[in-house]
Amino acid sequence: MSRVYNFSAGPSCLPEEVLTEAASEMLDYKGSGQSVMEMSHRSAVFKPIIENAENLVRRLMNVPENYKVLFLQGGGSTQFAMIPLNLGVKYKKAAYIDTGTWSTKALKEAAKWIDVDVIASSKDRNYTYIPKVEKITGNYDYVYLCFNNTIKGSHYEYIPETGTIPLCADISSCILSEPLDVSRFGILFAGAQKNLGPAGVTLVIIRDDLITETPLKGTPSMLSYKIHADAGSMYNTPPCYSIYMVGKVLEWVEEQGGAEGMKRRNVEKADMLYDYLDRSSVYHATVEKGSRSLMNVPFLTKEEDPEKAQAINKKFVSEAAAEGLVNLAGHRTVGGMRASIYNAMPLDGVKALIKFMDRFAEENF
Ligand SMILES: *Cc1c(COP(=O)(O)O)cnc(C)c1O
Repeated sequence: MSRVYNFSAGPSCLPEEVLTEAASEMLDYKGSGQSVMEMSHRSAVFKPIIENAENLVRRLMNVPENYKVLFLQGGGSTQFAMIPLNLGVKYKKAAYIDTGTWSTKALKEAAKWIDVDVIASSKDRNYTYIPKVEKITGNYDYVYLCFNNTIKGSHYEYIPETGTIPLCADISSCILSEPLDVSRFGILFAGAQKNLGPAGVTLVIIRDDLITETPLKGTPSMLSYKIHADAGSMYNTPPCYSIYMVGKVLEWVEEQGGAEGMKRRNVEKADMLYDYLDRSSVYHATVEKGSRSLMNVPFLTKEEDPEKAQAINKKFVSEAAAEGLVNLAGHRTVGGMRASIYNAMPLDGVKALIKFMDRFAEENF
């Protein structure tokens, strides 16, 4: 069997140990004679699976007692609606920081129901940095940001000060990549398919006082935090298998030393790649120093002619794939290439990528 190094931005690579273990339990989960895919979500055998996943989230992220951990569906994108519908009730107004694609989508969605103030943006330089914002004040129901910008490759190196205004953050592509102080946030959410497991489940960590009794009028039941929290994420059938896989990935994260252990690994990988890009005369990183993601690394070659650049990028991506380094195409809004090096990407994957880049540079420039 040969496995590739998968640099996809999501769904993305999972630890091989996790996949092997899941495969071994596929037909008969712990003597139950069933696959986790087949069992009732209300059964005695499934209960410990979801409890284990929740306990691991709490332990690994140091989630304070006054927060709920929910396993929901609809991906990260559904949170773009749930947050304004549930939190935008008092002032009907929120502050957004626009750092590209996912935060732009989130603010456009919120604007369907509430007033949106874009209080900072990095649009002026094509979202290649994180704006520095001073303490945020005002009559806002919440402040919203995307902590790691999967597509642009930027990442916050600080948490904006919002006083008593709840801070909501999309951590889909950086959850558990490094320690994070949950108590600074009102809501954290992450679609699982980047750093936590397969697609299909979205993790939401929400402070108890933000679970509103009465969301905006007309909010569907499925979009009410209160309904899901009261039902322990079992208002309807949860994505059982995805939750099971998240539990396995979290066990793996714990074995690697938790968030601290992940950070050590991730810094080593990212430093190696950024150092290479910064020293290269052929390639360069697109994001400014001080705002660079540990997880998503977009880069370009020095070819500036758009047509020639497109051709050389295409050649890069296809030759890399032929060597087992797959999904390196950049997002169309950035161009070039992007290496997503999530928790599960081993250091050897980054080494193999750099080796390939070196050879490709020699042969083509
Ligand atoms: C992938 C991604 C999303 C969208 O997630 P879906 O699960 O596809 O809805 C949202 N935010 C960020 C930061 C992402 O990386």
